[in-house]
Amino acid sequence: MDNTTTFNIKGMHCASCASVIEKSLKKIDGVLSVAVNYGTETAKIAFDSEKIDGSRLSKKIEPLGYSLAIRNADSMGMNADEHAAHLGVNQSKNEKLSELRDMKTKVMSVIPLAIISIFLMAWEGLSKLGIVGEMAPVINGLFMALLPLMATYTLFVVGRPYLLGVYRFLRYGKANMDTLIGIGTLAAFLYSFAITAFADTLRPFMNVQNTYYDVTIVVIAFIALGKYLEAKSKVKTGDAIEKLLNLQAKTALVIRDGKEIEIPVNDVKHGDIVIVKPGAKIPVDGMITSGSSYIDESMVTGEPMPARKKEGDGIVAGTMNTSGSFTFKATKVGSETLLAQIIKMVEDAQGSKAPIQAMADKISAVFVPIVLVIAFLTLGTWLVVGASYLGFSQALSFGLVSFVGVLVIACPCALGLATPTAIIVGVGKGAKEGILIKDAATLEKLHKVDTVIVDKTGTITIGRPTLVDIQNLSDLPDNGLVSLLASLENKSEHPIAHAVVNYVQEKSLTIGEASNFEGIQGKGLRGSIKGVEYFAGNAKLIKDLGIPFDPSKLDLFTAQGKTPVILATKEKVLGFVMVADEIKSASKQAVADLHKLGIKVVMLTGDDERAARYIASLVGIDDVVAHVLPQDKLAKIKELQSQGKIVAMAGDGVNDAPALAQADIGIAMGTGTDVAIESAGITLLGGDISKLVKAIKLSKITMRGIKQNLFWAFIYNIIGIPLAAGAFYPLFGWLLNPIFAGLAMAFSSVSVVSNSLRIKTVRL
Ligand code: ADP
Ligand code: MG
Repeated sequence: MDNTTTFNIKGMHCASCASVIEKSLKKIDGVLSVAVNYGTETAKIAFDSEKIDGSRLSKKIEPLGYSLAIRNADSMGMNADEHAAHLGVNQSKNEKLSELRDMKTKVMSVIPLAIISIFLMAWEGLSKLGIVGEMAPVINGLFMALLPLMATYTLFVVGRPYLLGVYRFLRYGKANMDTLIGIGTLAAFLYSFAITAFADTLRPFMNVQNTYYDVTIVVIAFIALGKYLEAKSKVKTGDAIEKLLNLQAKTALVIRDGKEIEIPVNDVKHGDIVIVKPGAKIPVDGMITSGSSYIDESMVTGEPMPARKKEGDGIVAGTMNTSGSFTFKATKVGSETLLAQIIKMVEDAQGSKAPIQAMADKISAVFVPIVLVIAFLTLGTWLVVGASYLGFSQALSFGLVSFVGVLVIACPCALGLATPTAIIVGVGKGAKEGILIKDAATLEKLHKVDTVIVDKTGTITIGRPTLVDIQNLSDLPDNGLVSLLASLENKSEHPIAHAVVNYVQEKSLTIGEASNFEGIQGKGLRGSIKGVEYFAGNAKLIKDLGIPFDPSKLDLFTAQGKTPVILATKEKVLGFVMVADEIKSASKQAVADLHKLGIKVVMLTGDDERAARYIASLVGIDDVVAHVLPQDKLAKIKELQSQGKIVAMAGDGVNDAPALAQADIGIAMGTGTDVAIESAGITLLGGDISKLVKAIKLSKITMRGIKQNLFWAFIYNIIGIPLAAGAFYPLFGWLLNPIFAGLAMAFSSVSVVSNSLRIKTVRL
């Protein structure tokens, strides 16, 4: 049985860990594919569950210092804590917090030691320059005796993970960034220790004044501090999920056996009648059965205005009732609720890899071994070439400094954090605005979009057309004509059909029973009433059927953006009605904003050409393609793509599914109660296309953040490694003190994570 599971990973320290874990897991028999994400510290593993299971997979990587957290809740809890536990969110958050506390204690213990070391170094430097006098020999002697002890504590207690990295390297040949730091600081320590222990023996051969205990102490202190700050901000990058989890109500008030009882939200079943009091959270998805209220959906859809909901309207879990009270029937519970799906989608998206990361991953994977080689080459070069100019003792000392510097500065950490942290923040920010992004690849692609295709009905217009004119060409009374039309439309789901049926219902006219009903795609419908076959639809339908009709009769109306529905028998047209839809208030501004972003907007619609053009002209749309059948929508998208355009298609996600799938980015728009969020790359909840503008801006901001991060991560290694290796020493006499390497390394990861966090605060 093939099985794909996402596990949380414990013990990850850097991006190169990801590739070590990936490689080790891939080798295991029964494992089909593995994707490890450093940003979320998760592994998505596809495996054959007959050959291997989670705990055995975990055993295989435990010797390397990692383990998998096995999630075993089998149903999505509705209680926030259980829900979180199932998703592995809170659990790992609690663990992370305790890990953070542990890190903090260690950092706090090592900082004073680092300050003493820096103070000593500074004093020595300043006294050499004659700025301060030499330290009193007693005091100096005391410090010199203390340094080895401080370094021992620092390396073996605070630096334990790095020593383990060295151990794993020697034992299993697997190196990660801990290995680099470990080898560097251990080398400085062992060199110094040898000098302290064997000073008298070594004196004839080399300068025994210089020890590097301070390097060990300060480098470890900086890196520990950096890792602590990084971990602290990394927890912050993921807080969008936590906020979503907190939207979930813990209990629900339901009617069971005629009594009102409060039950845990997981116990709510389909069909339960739930009571919602003023100010309460909606516990599950459902449909109002009695009462009405305004409901604040802003947390789920990002829409600021509370929406009025009455009997028959859908409501979703996690939204907030205002002052009314009502009862509703539970239709979706547990993992089926929109909120549960959103949480899952956000989590998946945050854990997915953006294509732009592939390069950073490739580099991280080969980075550690390459750096090890460079470090040893550096040491060798100093000893061989340096010694002939500077003498062995000095060359050894410089060589060691360079060796440690290279190992410390070359951490691929910033490189590994650059993409995932920005994606996590970007996806989370989107979710808060009602912009649901399926995966990182979609978010990445979105910023390249240059053409947006929109549907007219429901996207540019509100999608609730009303009947506004009746043109009767038959002997029937007007009411009889619309009644007849409504009897046919009654079976259709098209918004136009609702307009006709609503009109007839409001006038309390009769709606008859149609038989042999059939929808005619993109044109209208057919059906029989009392044995007579009728057709209803657009001008194209009438023309294609060869029914005599002068379409210019429609022009007067279509020029005003109204859509005709023509009723005919096989022989003749009986009359037509006009339906009109209101333009969404935000459409015009959104189109203007898209233009500002350099994006062309094309409207595709099955509607009448003139009516479509009229609407388009009102909102400033560049191009209209009218009278398109669903399959033509696909063809139009393909045509644009073949011209090299990157096309985003915004549609209702249900009817337009094939077109959404063909587009480079499919954008489904829905009100929250009716949207299938898995159907498109991006789902805009409860919105108009102004949200699309926000989504594109979000993508641009996130990509800019990633590129900045990658740039800094690279530039810093490109300059840092040669500088630390002493490549500039022969020219300028520059040699990087490993302490600055440690500082730079710590700073680079922290700055990358903070840069990603900035995405949170940018206004869309
Ligand atoms: P759109 O979503 O752009 O309206 P459709 O393919 O759903 O595209 O419909 C295309 C056209 O076919 C409509 O604009 C309308 O003129 C006609 N049509 C479709 N369904 C009906 C219907 N039930 N009654 C009347 N006309 C219809
Ligand atoms: Mg449609």
